[in-house]
Amino acid sequence: MVFKVLTLFPEVILQATNFSILKRAQQRNLIRIEAVNIRDYTKDKHKRTDDYPYGGGFGMVMTAQPIIDAYESTKPDKPHRVIYLTPQGRRYTQDIAKELSKEEELVIICGHYEGIDQRVIDLIVTDEISIGDYVLSGGEYAALVLIDSISRLVEGVIEKESVQEESFSDGLLEYPQYTRPYEFRGLKVPDVLLSGDHEKIKKWRREQSLLKTIKSRPELLNGVALTKEDREFLIK
Ligand code: SAM
Repeated sequence: MVFKVLTLFPEVILQATNFSILKRAQQRNLIRIEAVNIRDYTKDKHKRTDDYPYGGGFGMVMTAQPIIDAYESTKPDKPHRVIYLTPQGRRYTQDIAKELSKEEELVIICGHYEGIDQRVIDLIVTDEISIGDYVLSGGEYAALVLIDSISRLVEGVIEKESVQEESFSDGLLEYPQYTRPYEFRGLKVPDVLLSGDHEKIKKWRREQSLLKTIKSRPELLNGVALTKEDREFLIK
């Protein structure tokens, strides 16, 4: 999987992805992250990449020319998706991460200021994605969210089982996790987890997932195929 990120701040992308799982995934050539500096492509003699909005109003808008030239410099040959990160986009979810992890290459455009000239969207963008209903100062933080969440779904980056058991994988939030010591500040690990009875542990985890989901994100239950046991547990 190749991520080509068009940004005014390539170092934000490159430095933040140079740790832990993403670093190892790059070393093992499972993913590649390229950051293209949009400013390198501006034809403005003062190296500007933004201008005042037509029609007036507050703030600046990123101009189309450097973004389009930066995009063309990435020489995309195969069909590929071009994502513009924007609070006006489709809300990002684990399902979208899964869908995007099947692509070979993703181009990601990070906006700044008041955003980018609409003609960039009209000309090259295939997907507008928002990471949530709030406004960030730049698309780099959102790009990092996409890169991280998509990379961990790329085969080999982390253990398959780990992805299968996580929150959202079955539509529910994950059950509580415990590690050593058995007792910490008076709080003990639930006995069932020490029972060695895998069926019991599975059942407990499923019930805890249901409880956690109902408490924190009840709307998620609408998209979950509940089993007979789930229903019986929820009625109790
Ligand atoms: N004027 C824009 C609006 O009202 O929709 C907001 C621009 S925001 C200050 C600057 C840049 O941050 C955007 O172009 C986008 O790339 C990024 N951004 C901000 N919030 C975001 C979000 N929730 N999801 C994804 N990207 C976001």
